[in-house]
Amino acid sequence: SMASPALLMRVVASAYSVAEKAATIVRNVMSGGDLGIVEKAGPNDLQTKADRLVQMSICASLARKFPKVTIIGEEELPTDDVTEDLIEDGHCEEILKKPCPAQYTGIKEEELVIWVDPLDGTKEYTEGLLDHVTVLIGIAYGGKAIAGVINQPYYNYEAGANAVLGRTIWGVLGMGAFGFQLTEVPAGKHIVITTRSHSNALVNECISALNPDHVIRVGGAGNKIIQLIEGKASAYVFASPGCKKWDTCAPEAILHAVGGKITDIHGNSFQYNKEVKHMNSAGVLATLRNYDYYASRIPNTVKETLVP
Ligand code: AMP
Ligand code: MG
Ligand code: MG
Repeated sequence: SMASPALLMRVVASAYSVAEKAATIVRNVMSGGDLGIVEKAGPNDLQTKADRLVQMSICASLARKFPKVTIIGEEELPTDDVTEDLIEDGHCEEILKKPCPAQYTGIKEEELVIWVDPLDGTKEYTEGLLDHVTVLIGIAYGGKAIAGVINQPYYNYEAGANAVLGRTIWGVLGMGAFGFQLTEVPAGKHIVITTRSHSNALVNECISALNPDHVIRVGGAGNKIIQLIEGKASAYVFASPGCKKWDTCAPEAILHAVGGKITDIHGNSFQYNKEVKHMNSAGVLATLRNYDYYASRIPNTVKETLVP
């Protein structure tokens, strides 16, 4: 008989379905019209009813299936009294059929940490920039991001009423990433992608120093990594604190699975063990290709200001 699938593949297969349910919640809250916006640290740090419901849905659904896994979500909410309608117990059969990379077949539940951003790009969600929004489920082992699921609930929303809305991108290190068409920016073109709603003088100084052909300002860490892997931008540059481990874990796993690279602005890799501090204090630098071109052009003045 067939051996039962490895834990990692079962977690990714479940995270895929859990992220699709999350996307349905994100769309339903928006079409319901009452976003229930709450300010967390300030007006540029928002939480909506969708952030709250999705956090409860993802964390409770995964905790029920994988009780010994550590799950860290962005929103501080109780997970004990989650209503049954928020629970997803399905999984993606296609993912379960794929062989687990050999180096991950022995992983035990207590060795995994799952980083959850229930809704990345909340500010843009509240402003109707719906294609900026993603749901992020990142899976870490030994402090490294090894697998991730990114759902984009409003993918295709400009394609008309008959278009299928939303997509799910997933990846595992050593296996690759799926659910999109890997594309590179034309050779020699330097397109920098950065924050839309969290800019400051240092963020702009750093981008100017790179002398890009074009700058794209959009919301969401997940959204920006999608732009990198689809050939819309060559480097994601954010010379500021503000981005957290749940923003980078799933995007990192997917980017690394297709040969890209993400670090802080100094070139340090991110750690995702459960004890790590949440803030990526020294910013973000990510590329699909030509990482060294951008890393070598980050000004020292910027590096001196951003302490890891
Ligand atoms: P952005 O590129 O501005 O969408 O930021 C990417 C992620 O980091 C989002 O989840 C933001 O909420 C978060 N982030 C970045 N800067 C800040 C900040 N100054 N305050 C709060 N969250 C931030
Ligand atoms: Mg986020
Ligand atoms: Mg969020």
